[in-house]
Amino acid sequence: GSLPGWDDVERLVDEAYRYGLASVEGDIATYIPRLAQVDPELFGVSVAEVDGAVHTAGDADVAFSIQSISKAFVYALVCQELGHELVRERVGVNNTGLAFNSVVAIELNDGHPMNPMVNAGAIATTALVPAASAEERWARIQDGLSAFAGRRLELDGEVYTSEADTNQRNRAIGTLLQAYGRIDQDPLAAVDVYTRQCSLLVTAADLAVMGATLADGGVNPVTGDRVVSAEVARDTLAVLASTGLYERSGEWLFEIGLPGKSGVAGGIVTVSPGKGGIGVFSPRLDAAGNSVRGQRATRYLARALGLDVFASD
Ligand code: GLN
Repeated sequence: GSLPGWDDVERLVDEAYRYGLASVEGDIATYIPRLAQVDPELFGVSVAEVDGAVHTAGDADVAFSIQSISKAFVYALVCQELGHELVRERVGVNNTGLAFNSVVAIELNDGHPMNPMVNAGAIATTALVPAASAEERWARIQDGLSAFAGRRLELDGEVYTSEADTNQRNRAIGTLLQAYGRIDQDPLAAVDVYTRQCSLLVTAADLAVMGATLADGGVNPVTGDRVVSAEVARDTLAVLASTGLYERSGEWLFEIGLPGKSGVAGGIVTVSPGKGGIGVFSPRLDAAGNSVRGQRATRYLARALGLDVFASD
């Protein structure tokens, strides 16, 4: 079936917002210095339906950096260009069971980046975007993520500079991949483009539309533009189901029953195939780097809207 009628979804989005608001648990990310300056009380919730309807509550129009959520959409763009087999072989689809920025995971797997949702796999994926230069690679990513959102997404220069000044660990990951022969491009140029993609500004409502584009077989339901094929949208959701919330991906799937992707600025996108996308934003995070209020609001919506893919009624 499809989602309930307009008024019911509006009411449930408001209820999910209030349910999320009750928590003040978690801590804001500080390892990227600029993120530590964000108001921890910000909280927005949005649902976008595959018919193009968009519902919002709270700070759903406040912009924040997309961070790791970019990984899902860059992965889709690369799958579109290079195909299922090559990407499965080069980037992988299995969870590491370790933190998103783990170097140990690379070492344990003979240099393989393991999956596109940890930093190693995301840097390898960004390096696979076909382009003659880093500038062209960045332009293709900015254009591609903007097509998912249905509006031009811009870089937050302060977040970018703050991360670029402090991302020694990601540079180490890129260089380690190069040492294992797992990356063909200049690894530091790939890390720089990756840092830029993470600094793109989105709102919770943008995330809902980006998710609804994957839910709608790769067609943005607001603009009507096809961004990726239905097969690529399906492959992206399958990877998110096992890796989207890092080492907490199993708990997420157990509680929510939907593919999702989180970022350390506090965003989470969740996708209900054939029905719509959920976008949430709240900066306080659990120990794995996932928004606490965002997880609560998403869980509420998944249950209230009947979205869990494993539920039979
Ligand atoms: N840009 C961040 C990093 O590489 C993204 C991490 C995240 O959102 N989990 O550390």
